[in-house]
Amino acid sequence: METVSLGTSQLQTSRIAYGCWRIAGTWNPSEVTADKEDVGRRAIVAAMEAGYTMFDHADIYCRGHAETLFGQVMKANPSIREDIVIATKCGIRFAGEPWSDSPHRYDFSAKHIITSCEASLKRLQIETIDLLQLHRPDFLMNPEEIADAFNQLLRSGKVREFGVSNFKPSQITALQKACPMPLIVHQFEVSLAKIDSLSDGTLDQCLTERMTPLAWSPLGGGVLGSPEITSGPSPRHPISANLQETISAIADARGVSRSIVALAWLLKHPGKIVPIIGTTDPKRIVEATKAPEVDLTRDEWYRLLIAARGEKLP
Ligand code: NAP
Repeated sequence: METVSLGTSQLQTSRIAYGCWRIAGTWNPSEVTADKEDVGRRAIVAAMEAGYTMFDHADIYCRGHAETLFGQVMKANPSIREDIVIATKCGIRFAGEPWSDSPHRYDFSAKHIITSCEASLKRLQIETIDLLQLHRPDFLMNPEEIADAFNQLLRSGKVREFGVSNFKPSQITALQKACPMPLIVHQFEVSLAKIDSLSDGTLDQCLTERMTPLAWSPLGGGVLGSPEITSGPSPRHPISANLQETISAIADARGVSRSIVALAWLLKHPGKIVPIIGTTDPKRIVEATKAPEVDLTRDEWYRLLIAARGEKLP
């Protein structure tokens, strides 16, 4: 697959990245079965073989079990390490941890960032995390404290590069002011099912600051790829019949699948958005690699945008 640089760093990623949120098949480690682990392992191997070179994790995905599964696959295929970028996230803490009455919350304290990162390294069975992202903005974040944690992680060789996820542009500006190292990525939800980042300053900031936008749920959790009208495996983003029909019309005219059209729509943006796909189906993993071959015309791109907006442009 074609590659792109991550921000201003030396790191390179395949044009489409693979997201490991769903590889354990559940959020709950007590529900993990050998069959679910098998599906996850096969998905990772399929992605590696298909040429994906960036893998996105978080400390909370199945409470660490997704990272553990990935670590096992890495251990069985050690030569792959130098060819891939391993990204993970920290900063969200589940209810009940560490005390039974602890609420679900965000924690960007230096202690939590460093502890979480060290636990991820162990589970992933690697020496260095290539890219550490702060998962969701902590309302109590102190930019200087975060910068200090980042510096410690950088100096100790535990993390190579840093980024953020789900931030407001103003929060990135505040954090970047305190950090000596560049924040090289911003990971947020953007797809034909979620278009606010085009107009709320998020994508503009990525262009200005030369941060790579990483698109989570680029298929809206599946709904953009599914042939059914307004339903799919994730009902989070019911989408309009008009958007469904517009995607299908362009997919049919080009002889590609709906998923490819939805991914190609993201790839057309000049900010070089890297979609992070989350299917665990090896056929879909391979199929998505064709998206960079589809260069939508401006007309097609705007037809899709207008259908996604649900109203004409002013
Ligand atoms: P996605 O690619 O939009 O959705 C994947 C889901 O769509 C899977 O359940 C898949 O099912 C289904 N799907 C894919 N193609 C389909 C089709 N043609 N028809 C029907 N269903 C289809 O992405 P995602 O999994 O929601 O998220 C991707 C990654 O983004 C995650 O792994 C994670 O790394 C990252 N993420 C980050 C955040 C954050 O806050 N930073 C939040 C969410 C996700 P099958 O497996 O059956 O194909």
